[in-house]
Amino acid sequence: MSKFACRCGYVMNLSNGAPSFEFALVPESRIEQIADKLDEPEHLDSDAFYGLVDEVRTTVYRCPSCGRIHVDGGNGLLNSFVPESLV
Ligand SMILES: [Zn+2]
Repeated sequence: MSKFACRCGYVMNLSNGAPSFEFALVPESRIEQIADKLDEPEHLDSDAFYGLVDEVRTTVYRCPSCGRIHVDGGNGLLNSFVPESLV
């Protein structure tokens, strides 16, 4: 998926690296695990860091125009959530 059109009409281009509207949803427990590893004498390198994040991350897109949240279901589909202010 290189582009995604939000229901509001805003088109998100997903093929340009890590756009400002793309987020990684990471369990708090994994963040704590990574923080513990950063305190160890042998620090994580960036490959190990991204490995630990990518194992558990869920990709989320927040529409810059309307604020809808689109959660990547991992099956090629996005589950979309609407801010209550738009309902
Ligand atoms: Zn939108």
